[in-house]
Amino acid sequence: MQLQALGNADFLRLWEEGSRMHPLDRALFTLGTALPEDADAVADWPLGRRNAVLAELRRRSFGSALSSWCACPECGERMEFELDAALLCAHETLADPPVRVQGRAFRLPTSRDLAIIAGESDPQRAALHLLQRCCLDAPEPPDWTETQMAEAGRALAEADPLAETLLQLRCAVCSHAWEAPLDIADFLWSEIEGRARRLLIEVHALASAYGWSEADILALSEPRRARYLEMVQA
Ligand SMILES: [Zn+2]
Repeated sequence: MQLQALGNADFLRLWEEGSRMHPLDRALFTLGTALPEDADAVADWPLGRRNAVLAELRRRSFGSALSSWCACPECGERMEFELDAALLCAHETLADPPVRVQGRAFRLPTSRDLAIIAGESDPQRAALHLLQRCCLDAPEPPDWTETQMAEAGRALAEADPLAETLLQLRCAVCSHAWEAPLDIADFLWSEIEGRARRLLIEVHALASAYGWSEADILALSEPRRARYLEMVQA
């Protein structure tokens, strides 16, 4: 797998074209940019594999330290935390055998499956539709009970641990403990957006001052661009 770190031109193109996309498509577009040879295949990767490769891409493009913050749901205190992106890419999705629940075989859910159920507003029906899609040996609509569905959901989550990452958080002020999901796709997207906006501001400042083209300014190394900006803004 030839994963390429994102460069300045990628940040701008992703931001420009991805801003209008559904988050699921945006994540696939980002992966396809970094893995052009796999661009057609990523929609059918299990979600854990998608997330592991996004985490690796984040590491190569922005570094390993993921810093974020959230507000304590109990007292509102702002909590900052940092984790290592390597933890999210260390283990790729385990082998992909069918997962067996109550005598039925399931494959792991993919981005394509999530896109297909995205329009379903009732969560129970969406879950049923997803299980139906992933079930390998029951073409007819199954009559699963809620308990059976929950069991199948649990088994699929265990078989693909990186499909969803839950952070265990504890507030330093009131000691309230809770779980918060970390969506690496959203996280990476907000960083791509932030980087693109910063680049546009820099291009604007340098193009206005020197008349250089966008491509020339983006091709400057970070230290060189920063030094010119200092002089322009002095
Ligand atoms: Zn608190």
